[in-house]
Amino acid sequence: MSNARPQTLSLHSSPAAAFRRKVLELRSQGRTVIDMTAGDLDFPTPPHVVEAAVAAARAGDTRYTSVDGTPELKDAVREHFRRQNGLAFDRSEIIVSNGSSQAIATAFAVTLQQGGEVIVPSPYWATYCGQAALAGGVAVQVSCAQNNRFKLRAGDLARAITPRTRWVVINNPVNPTGALYTRAELAALCDVVRQHPDVRIIADNLYEHFVYDGAKAVTPLEAAPDLRDRMVTVSGVAKSYSMTGWRIGYAAAPADLVAEMTKVQYLVTSCTSSISQAAATAALAGPQTVLAERLAILQEKRDLAVSLVNGCAGLSAVPPEGTFYLCISCAGVIGKRTPQGRMLDSGGDVSDWLLDTAGVAVLPGEGYGLPNYVRMTFAVPAEHIHAAGRLIGEACATLA
Ligand code: PMP
Repeated sequence: MSNARPQTLSLHSSPAAAFRRKVLELRSQGRTVIDMTAGDLDFPTPPHVVEAAVAAARAGDTRYTSVDGTPELKDAVREHFRRQNGLAFDRSEIIVSNGSSQAIATAFAVTLQQGGEVIVPSPYWATYCGQAALAGGVAVQVSCAQNNRFKLRAGDLARAITPRTRWVVINNPVNPTGALYTRAELAALCDVVRQHPDVRIIADNLYEHFVYDGAKAVTPLEAAPDLRDRMVTVSGVAKSYSMTGWRIGYAAAPADLVAEMTKVQYLVTSCTSSISQAAATAALAGPQTVLAERLAILQEKRDLAVSLVNGCAGLSAVPPEGTFYLCISCAGVIGKRTPQGRMLDSGGDVSDWLLDTAGVAVLPGEGYGLPNYVRMTFAVPAEHIHAAGRLIGEACATLA
């Protein structure tokens, strides 16, 4: 009898979760660590949203819901798309999922045959690559030029498309770079996709409310309404309303695709939490003033973080147009030595070194396709940003 174990998929795990383990280990040893790695905001879920969940639980709203979401939440999602993007959808074109991650994975699951390709502009949120692999597909990472804020250009896309391409992922604004695609840039990408009838677009708008300096995040469907049959527009309440733990995302897609996605979702999770759906309905249908209030606070924190980082010898960051992350170029410290004689060769080395010597946790850029960078959140208390800036600056000053 053979001892060979069945082959498993080779999937990556969350780069943030792996790094977080190091932080917890140091803290368990009594070290103070300022954690700037989170993908969560430090704001609480708005109180009226929490109350809606409590009320739902008390009212017995504790059973399975429709697989694709409650009618109330679907209507709130439709209202969201109308308000945010001027787009009208039918209930049959909306699916509610366990976070936007599930909507993306499900869309790939129902469309990618073995070897189907998903174009993922790099730098990227690495989960897209694993989601493609999980569905039997292949992520094709396309490097985007730094001098274009690392955004995918129409020419890059045209060159990357093959007869096996099924999807292009467009995340706007982009995690991790914070770059924002303009309507014209999206229209140019859509012009390329239009020429390839087998190619669809996943528009990931998860950070759409975190856009600074008065700009607005446009979604590809606004730029190319004629491609409606080939677009899946994804978002969720996780970041916008500080609800990462409630696990509610959603997608707008052609009704036939939603019907297929609903079958997969039924097999995997039956539905999403009834209580979380009640909370998300309150978030999307209730007052939206919290978004502007929080954005103003984040814009100040962004400016603070950018100025502090740019004051550190060898580090530099351009102000992100969106998201709540700063991508810090380590070009000026890579190749230098620490006082202990350790050579810094990559963003990963820099983040390990900053954690060890400065007690500041920032994520290595490698997991995002940015080997010479680190990613730092600024959605943390301002005093953490000040302290991190000071500690990182002191550490950088010791390099030779
Ligand atoms: N898209 C992007 C770009 C993300 O950064 C994340 C989470 N960090 C997600 C989607 C998934 O978010 P959720 O499943 O919590 O909605």
